[in-house]
Parts: sequence; structure tokens; C-alpha cells
Amino acid sequence: MDIRDGFIDSIGNTPLIRLKRASEETGCEILGKAEFLNPGGSIKDRAAWAIVKDAEEKGILKPGGVIVEGTAGNTGIGLALVARARGYRCAIVIPETQSQEKKDMLRLSGAELYEVPAAPYKDPNNYVHYSQRLAQELAGQEPNGVIWANQFDNVANRQGHIETTAQEIWKQTDGKVDGYVSAVGTGGTLAGVSMGLKEHNKNIQIALADPHGAALYSYYKHGELKSEGSSITEGIGQGRITANLKGAVIDEAFRISDETAIPLVFNLFEEEALCLGGSSGVNIAGAIELAKKMGPGHTIVTMLCDLGTRYTSKLYNAEFLKERGLPVPKWVA
Ligand code: PMP
Repeated sequence: MDIRDGFIDSIGNTPLIRLKRASEETGCEILGKAEFLNPGGSIKDRAAWAIVKDAEEKGILKPGGVIVEGTAGNTGIGLALVARARGYRCAIVIPETQSQEKKDMLRLSGAELYEVPAAPYKDPNNYVHYSQRLAQELAGQEPNGVIWANQFDNVANRQGHIETTAQEIWKQTDGKVDGYVSAVGTGGTLAGVSMGLKEHNKNIQIALADPHGAALYSYYKHGELKSEGSSITEGIGQGRITANLKGAVIDEAFRISDETAIPLVFNLFEEEALCLGGSSGVNIAGAIELAKKMGPGHTIVTMLCDLGTRYTSKLYNAEFLKERGLPVPKWVA
């Protein structure tokens, strides 16, 4: 029998899907890890469980305790559902600019939601700092413990990817993986997969796919944190070296524009029936760049982070795309 025991046990062990057009055009095997099939609908279920599991093991969270986090959405959904499955409460701080679909899902999942205006990281009202203060305030009132998940700088996040995501990729490709590419939100995925895969074979090429508006491309290329432009993608685009990124070996970096990434997302839906969010487009564009650099015959893995249904009011909305000067497919108009 092959049975998973509830929500927590259903996280991870996602399939690797061959991306047909990307593979044919590059002569490489381009494989997307189907993270949208996690039970909370995104790659962030892994980080949510890794962080809560770590807090349980350290004894800082007891039944009825509270999990507090600042999140662009997917981590919050993962945390709210992990909280529900394990008997905790969950309070989430989210920038109001994030999609309505994610906010709705957070409320339905039982999260107490705090929407705050979008502000840069150096602003004390930035959602991350706000959530840290909220955790400190609640800590004095809650007898069963409060944790601030702190996904950006809590390395339990990347540890989860070292122990699960990287090992799955190694096994699923029979150790034949040559390259791995993904974008960075917290850096937990990229750093964790890099560390986990390089333990098996240090020659596996690890590449960053950075959207416009993020500062890491220029850091890994030229040693300087510097951003340029902006992006409609959500959940990715980092301006600093988080604790999760520290010490990770990143061999290559590509800067990916929305004009490159978004048509890839639409094309994948039209031709291969996979309806994904914008970060998957940045990842696939990065995988194509790495394939071109490495040459034909290589196996390159990337992440398909979440479903397009989380963005029907934005990425799959004609008005939204037109306002931003992005191409509108006939079937969206
Ligand atoms: N894609 C999406 C849709 C996300 O929500 C996130 C996480 N915020 C990422 C990619 C990036 O993952 P990580 O935080 O591990 O860098």
C-alpha cells in the first residue's frame, strides 16, 4: 500500500516533470519539480513544516501555541495549514500588494491576517519587522509559546530543503542531475538544494534566476547588491543576503525579465497544460539559460513553485497585464 498519513506526511516527494518545449529547444533534459502538488499548493509547505518541526524539537512550541510570520502568502498558507494539522494558532502579516487569492486562502485556512502597506526592508513598518514585533507582543500573553517563524533568517528553512528537496532530486534523476536553477525569496530553496546536491557531487552547477527588482544577480556576478527595474512575479526577488543564503555555493546567475518569463508561463499552459505562477516562469527561463551555457545533453532541474490559480486576478487578468505593458494571450483577453 502507498498511503500518506494526513497533511504533514503529504508534503514533498513531488514528481519531476519533463518540460517538452524547453527540453526540445535546448537539447537538454529540462525537468520541473511539481511543487504546486504539495497539499497547501506551493513549495512553501516544505519550509513551513521544517520551521515548525524544528520549533517542536526545540520545545519552544506546545499544543495551542501561536506561529507568527511575515509572508508574501505561500509560506503563510503553508504555516496556517501546518498549524491546523498540528493544533496551533497562526498569525500572518502580509503586504497588501499580494494577490487577493492568497489573502482569501489565508483567511479560510484559519490565519489571523494583518495586512500592511508594502514598505522596503529598511523601513520599520516592513511586513517582516512588523511580524517580529507582533510575535514579541503576543509572547507575553500566550502560555503555550509563540514562535516567530522568521523564514528569511531561520536556517531550519534551508535545512528542510537539504534533507528533502535535494535528496528527492538526486534520487529521481538517478544522480544524473547536472544543473539546478531557481529564483530566491528567502533563499531556503536555492541554498538548501545547492548544499544537499553538492554533498553528492560538487560539480553540479547551481544557478540563480533573479527577477528584475532583485539585487542578488549583481551580487553573485559582481559582488555588489544592486537592483534594477521591477517585476510582477510574487514570492521572489531579494535585496539582501539572508541567513539562509549565507555560505551557499552559487555558480552562476541570470537576470530574467518579465517579458521573458511571463510568455514562458503562458506557453506552458497553452502547449503543455501546466497552469503556473510567475516565479515558475523565471525559473524555467533560468533553466533555459543554464542549458544554453552548459550545452546539449545535460539534465537540468528547476522548480514549479505554485499554480496559476493563485494569480487569476493578476498574471491571468487582461487589464493587469495591459497596464504593465505585458503581452495578453487571446485566451486571457
Ligand atoms: N516561488 C514562489 C511562488 C514563492 O512563494 C516562493 C517563496 N516566497 C519562492 C518561489 C521562493 O522560495 P524560497 O523562499 O525558498 O527562496
